Amino acid sequence: MDFSLPPDIEDLRLRVRKFVEDEVLPLESDPANFAEHENIPEARLKPVREKAKKAGLWAPQSPKDYGGMELPVVAWAAIYEEAARSLFGPLAINCMAPDDGNMNMLRLVGTKAQKDKWLKPIVAGEVRSAFAMTEPAPGGGSDPTMIRTRAEKRGGKYVIHGRKWFITGADGASHFILMARTSDDARKGLTAFLYHKDQPGWRIVRRIPILGPEEHGGHCELEFDGLEVPEENVLLGEGEGLRLMQVRLGPARLTHCMRWTGWAKRCLEIAQAYVESREGFGIKLADRESVQIKLGEVAKEIEISRLLTMRAAWMLDQGGRARKEVSMAKVQVADTLHKAADVAIQLQGARGFSKDTVVEWIYRYARSAKLVDGASEVHMMVLAKFLRQDGRDFWQWGPGEGRKNSR
Ligand SMILES: Cc1cc2nc3c(=O)[nH]c(=O)nc-3n(C[C@H](O)[C@H](O)[C@H](O)COP(=O)(O)OP(=O)(O)OC[C@H]3O[C@@H](n4cnc5c(N)ncnc54)[C@H](O)[C@@H]3O)c2cc1C
Repeated sequence: MDFSLPPDIEDLRLRVRKFVEDEVLPLESDPANFAEHENIPEARLKPVREKAKKAGLWAPQSPKDYGGMELPVVAWAAIYEEAARSLFGPLAINCMAPDDGNMNMLRLVGTKAQKDKWLKPIVAGEVRSAFAMTEPAPGGGSDPTMIRTRAEKRGGKYVIHGRKWFITGADGASHFILMARTSDDARKGLTAFLYHKDQPGWRIVRRIPILGPEEHGGHCELEFDGLEVPEENVLLGEGEGLRLMQVRLGPARLTHCMRWTGWAKRCLEIAQAYVESREGFGIKLADRESVQIKLGEVAKEIEISRLLTMRAAWMLDQGGRARKEVSMAKVQVADTLHKAADVAIQLQGARGFSKDTVVEWIYRYARSAKLVDGASEVHMMVLAKFLRQDGRDFWQWGPGEGRKNSR
């Protein structure tokens, strides 16, 4: 067994690391680069994105034909973690949610015509995208089979009515992927549609105020009141919505893990720098055993996070579905991000509670990690289901389900 990265991926990782150090961290250190919703204004992001493109560090998940790097998932794990040393790093190289998950999903399921029209401009960074699935109660949330937004077929088009909420990036996004009900069939009742922001028949009801900092375009509540979508804008075919969710959400959850691990490491880095310089009761904080235990504990959790994430990434590259491995990584990394930020605040004393470092930003962001793309309890439910189903075969080393040589 060899845990080292192939030399080309290691080289890329080091290039991303240097790019973030030289071009992105200086942006983040200027408070003027945080807009109203606590993210970098898109106009200020643009020049660094151009530099990333020129450096060949752009859209790691997307096809080369469209301007991306077309890397394996294992390489994403290595470089997203490096990019997320900065809050703005994933945005700078175009691998931030939700565009990242949407690009990957369109790459995997779109027809050539759909990719040319809907994927290419997202890869180029010309437009933003959003994925609209969750609904306010009593609609679909953790349980997507409860989705109530309806798409009724009339001739060669679908007419859509319903409501969604918490749709990340919706304010200002141009390309939307919308999940709606086309029948009451338990397995084949949902369908995914593509639509453009300029189409009539839908509106943003509000940008929902939240606890944490926001992605560009916030988290919005949407209303659909007769949005018309032509047949050619159905993704994967009518009734294939649940399958599409699996295709999108597996890798999207894992790329969250990759970025969150980078942010967890950043918290540790900031805490370490503080305890190395701060003295109290006659010694450096870094020389105190109770402080060392806190730092060691976070370092251990981060390494567990990296291993779970990398293993699931490798399984996806082998053609496996990695459902339980992604669930495990998602729960572990969400908890670790939270813990890393919490410890980093505590070890810095009052400074930790200030906006003088990015730790408080990460702390507030981290709370959403246990909710987005499946609440932790739902992922635990998935793990328990696999334990029941697979018994002792739950524990395997191969590429896992979806592959013939999995045992
Ligand atoms: C910041 C943020 C961004 C988001 N972005 C998007 C987006 O871009 N697009 C989109 O479609 N959605 C988005 N969401 C929605 C997110 O995916 C949902 O919040 C999540 O799937 C949970 O659904 P829900 O909020 O309806 O919770 P509910 O289904 O109402 O569940 C509430 C709580 O009940 C518990 N629970 C639920 N099911 C179980 C179970 N089986 N076992 C034990 N406990 C359970 C959990 O604690 C859960 O948190 C976003 C949410 C947040 C907070």
